[in-house]
Amino acid sequence: MLIDTSSLRKVFSLEQKKNFSNTAVIGGLDKFIRNWFNQTAGSISDPAALKRFKNLNVSAPSYDKMTLHARQQWITDLTALINELESNHTLTAAKPPVKPPVKKPQTVAKVRKQPSTGIKILDEPLTVIKGIGPNIAPKFAKLGVKNIRDILYFFPTRHVDYSQLKTVSQLSEGSEETIIANVWEAQVSYPGGRKSSEAIVGDATGNVRAVWFNNPYIARLLKPNTRIVLSGRVKLFNGRFVFESPEWEPEEGDLTHTGRLVPIYPLTEGLSQRVVRRLVKSAVDRWANAVIDFLPGDIKTGSSLLDLPQAIAQAHYPDDRAIYDRARTRLAFDELFLLQLGVLNRKRAWHESQPGNPIKTDKRTLDNFINALPFKLTRAQQRVLGEILADMEKQQAMSRLLQGEVGSGKTVIALAALLTATSCGFQTAFMAPTEILTEQHFNTIHKLLSLSSTMERVDDCIYRYSGIISHPLTVAMLIGALTQKKKREIHRLIINGDVDIVAGTHALIQEEVEFKKLGLVVVDEQHRFGVEQRGSLRQKGTNPHVLVMTATPIPRTLALTLYGDLDLSVIDELPPGRQLIKTRWLKPDQRESAYHFIRREIESGHQAFIICPLIEESEAIQARAATAEYERLANEIFPDLRLGLLHGRMSSADKEKVMYEFHQGALSILVSTPVVEVGIDVPNATVMMVESADRFGLAQLHQFRGRVGRGPAQSYCILLAENPSVVGQERLKIIEDTFDGFKLAEEDLKLRGPGEFFGTRQSGLPDLKMAKLTDVAILELARTEAEKLFKEDPRLLKPEHDLLVKELARIWTTEVKEWS
Ligand code: ADP
Ligand code: MG
Repeated sequence: MLIDTSSLRKVFSLEQKKNFSNTAVIGGLDKFIRNWFNQTAGSISDPAALKRFKNLNVSAPSYDKMTLHARQQWITDLTALINELESNHTLTAAKPPVKPPVKKPQTVAKVRKQPSTGIKILDEPLTVIKGIGPNIAPKFAKLGVKNIRDILYFFPTRHVDYSQLKTVSQLSEGSEETIIANVWEAQVSYPGGRKSSEAIVGDATGNVRAVWFNNPYIARLLKPNTRIVLSGRVKLFNGRFVFESPEWEPEEGDLTHTGRLVPIYPLTEGLSQRVVRRLVKSAVDRWANAVIDFLPGDIKTGSSLLDLPQAIAQAHYPDDRAIYDRARTRLAFDELFLLQLGVLNRKRAWHESQPGNPIKTDKRTLDNFINALPFKLTRAQQRVLGEILADMEKQQAMSRLLQGEVGSGKTVIALAALLTATSCGFQTAFMAPTEILTEQHFNTIHKLLSLSSTMERVDDCIYRYSGIISHPLTVAMLIGALTQKKKREIHRLIINGDVDIVAGTHALIQEEVEFKKLGLVVVDEQHRFGVEQRGSLRQKGTNPHVLVMTATPIPRTLALTLYGDLDLSVIDELPPGRQLIKTRWLKPDQRESAYHFIRREIESGHQAFIICPLIEESEAIQARAATAEYERLANEIFPDLRLGLLHGRMSSADKEKVMYEFHQGALSILVSTPVVEVGIDVPNATVMMVESADRFGLAQLHQFRGRVGRGPAQSYCILLAENPSVVGQERLKIIEDTFDGFKLAEEDLKLRGPGEFFGTRQSGLPDLKMAKLTDVAILELARTEAEKLFKEDPRLLKPEHDLLVKELARIWTTEVKEWS
């Protein structure tokens, strides 16, 4: 069907030029778009496409009422949708779309005549490539390669180096070698009864045999007295060298399979390496130059990055290793740079979407609170508090991530910020992932506030403090265990603005808790609190400041990638006098002495954790199931002691109950799966024993270790591993004498890759093809350049950024958007 999208595009591009001021068409954009859609809708036959239009609300937009950013986003989204529908032929433009306002002549036009439909070349289906028909295209589709752009960006996983030419006399057994040789004879042969091809080839220095097993047709292709290039592994057979199933190709023409750095591509059934190489090469040769370099020239030259077409070509068929590295750097830079622009843009959008609530620091209240503490804040705590308070004074809502080791004193800092907000008349929320942690917060708040005030207890979950701020400060705890009546009462108090600080689980934002004047939200334990939740918090109307706290040290590169929209504060110093948890990795035959040790600690009045990796018995991974282990420990090892069991399949009420009993000292040993990891504070626990410790990441082991040593008594971490791998042993050695969580996290990243930090919850990370999360230098560069660009042109309105905007729009509709 033919639909006129060009008028729409024209209007959009004009509107963009006019800074989204709704002045592109007389009478406003609303009317125009509704008309356009009403005329168009009838000819869109694909219901899915129609639905997507509807989702963008084109039939009844209220463009006029949107914020500036929303307008920009909406137009970007709609343009992207139209582009996509045009490229897969759901929509076809009646006239070629207006050219983007590009100064440079488009290389595209030179390479190939613009097709009359106006579809951009890179979006054309693979089948326009010679040799790719309806047979092969679906196979490429399985690899995620559907159009020209995809195949250009379908990078090899590695290269084999066939670039060093040898003579026959220089060949050596067992290595990958390349020769240029004459074909003397070629024939079908039957080694071991398999119909194969065999050839004798040679150069001035000698002759050598080549065999292709199960491949009789090659014999026909090798014409005697022609010259070929041969690359492959050389074996010794009956005292003579032989190439076994080598790569080969005629000497004349471009080398594709031999005699160079040869790409190795991911394959799928029905696609051979040779075929993929040939097709990718022809695509790259023909279309790489059609890729328009969207990177502004000054960034490219400033960071000496390759041009994009060159980078793409060299990533596939590099001239040498050095240029391959530069190609990868350029392409990795692109991915990280676009990602950074995405997150920075999201941050800006948040800032602009609604005004925040500037909160002036009330120095007197703050000093009263801090001076009453039984300790002096560490320098790191003071610095971080300063950063937080400065953020809160701004008109824009704070989004800050506070990282600090277990025990580094994040809670005091959070409370100082909460008090500051309440003294300005705002309500605040302090959220934790579990009820027991919520209770813990409630108690900690109480402990710290009573140092400088008197408390009137309204009931179990509402305390009122006087002498801190100008009115009595009401602190409430909202947890599932409360009666419905109580909950409703607290909800009502919150709506009326009669609660100043509410401690609660994440349910605080999921349930319909309404605040009268929410000014600050502190979220403890980032890991359980994803981006969506942060988003939904902001939907709560008042655009509160948000402080997210985590004790899991996240390497900086990851923090910038995953949480790039948050500002980062780090408490990198523990309060003085903290004990080091004595950490020992024990051999399996030392298990008995470990139990003995635990018993002694318990006899002197302490408690112990025992962590098992899995809930159910599983021979395969040799992990002890928590339930079976609990039975065994309770019946055979510690029959005289009280043990508790905690695992993820228990109801939350049961979990809370066990944790509570352990917390109260009613249980001596808590046998648990890793669910116990987050924040629980039992000062009387002095032993943390971890079974199958080699199966955990270092950062996670460090978290476990942080569960003990929270009281005055010396504490211990015992690591057991039945049969650790070499890497496992290395990790266990590292954790025995490294106590710096950030160092451990970096080691994790090196030893086990980023998966350790994302878990399944964070799987929405965009697909980085070229960038690795260990590319610190490239990432820092991308971050710096993105920030610079944002400072200079926050809306990317300058004409030299047009191409970049288009590229962003393309990426945003797929990747960044999904994970943001
Ligand atoms: P985190 O939440 O970072 O794990 P907490 O805030 O729970 O750490 O602090 C751990 C313990 O250290 C608490 O008992 C707290 O009162 C104490 N604490 C906090 N800051 C200091 C400090 N500067 N000096 C001494 N003790 C401190
Ligand atoms: Mg804490």
